[in-house]
Amino acid sequence: MGRIVFTMVTVILLTVGVSVAYAAPLKVAATIFPLADIVRQVGGDRVTVTTIIPAGASEHIYEPTSSQMRQVADVVLYVKVGAGMDDWVDRLVRSARKPPMPVSVTSGVRLLRTAEQELLGQEEEEHHHSGDDPHIWLDPILVRDSIVPRITEALIKLSPADSSRFRDNAKRFQQELTRLDQEMRQGVAGLKRHEFIAMHSAWAYMAKRYGLRQVAAVETFPGKEPSARYLVELVKLARKQGVSTIFAEPQLSNKAAQVIAREVKGTVLLLDPVGGENIAGRNSYLALMRYNLSQIVRGMGK
Ligand SMILES: [Zn+2]
Repeated sequence: MGRIVFTMVTVILLTVGVSVAYAAPLKVAATIFPLADIVRQVGGDRVTVTTIIPAGASEHIYEPTSSQMRQVADVVLYVKVGAGMDDWVDRLVRSARKPPMPVSVTSGVRLLRTAEQELLGQEEEEHHHSGDDPHIWLDPILVRDSIVPRITEALIKLSPADSSRFRDNAKRFQQELTRLDQEMRQGVAGLKRHEFIAMHSAWAYMAKRYGLRQVAAVETFPGKEPSARYLVELVKLARKQGVSTIFAEPQLSNKAAQVIAREVKGTVLLLDPVGGENIAGRNSYLALMRYNLSQIVRGMGK
């Protein structure tokens, strides 16, 4: 009896399976974890999202592997930052069976220039950067008003039947971003200092939003250890501007940051620009930004 019921259920499922095939979740790839999480917030269970750059890797020095070509072979949408940061993903998805829809979250956004240029023009440009600062995702308001709407529109285009669901999810997430923004404002309101030195110049949008100042970056290009001469300049600058907090990053070596901190009797704390699915306390966009806020308050609140 049990077996007959089981067989019948199987037959029904197989029959129904054909007609509901359209309802399979949309497969999406995002280059960095924050974008993957934002897609998940909007898409809910209507999407499955792959993060291409693994946790622990810098968003700038990552080289995709050939196994990742298989990972993205059947995505219908891919989300990148753009502005020269992760445009290699365009080549990666070229191997997909059907060309997926691209979303570049920086396109159409007024970008800042990368900050380190203003400090030390004498460092030669060794990387092929456009000079536009790609780190817009570290400003919750740009996420709310620019990235979320763009991702929502893309998902709706791919699955119009889910449009009201996507819009509801987006609205709910945007409310949470507004709450995050309020927390950030309250958090920085009590700071004693506003200047800091960053590991790489990832924080200009966040700094601009909250009245902070990323005075300089330890690594003018992520992964490139600073020269001794540059370190001397940084120490001088830190003294001149009264900077005592050097923000290192989990993805990059903090040796140079330690050297500067020792010289200016300051402290090294972490700011994390990308987080990751399996990193406790930084495993969602909101958690990541709350972690960063708590580090800022720790470093500059006294
Ligand atoms: Zn970066």
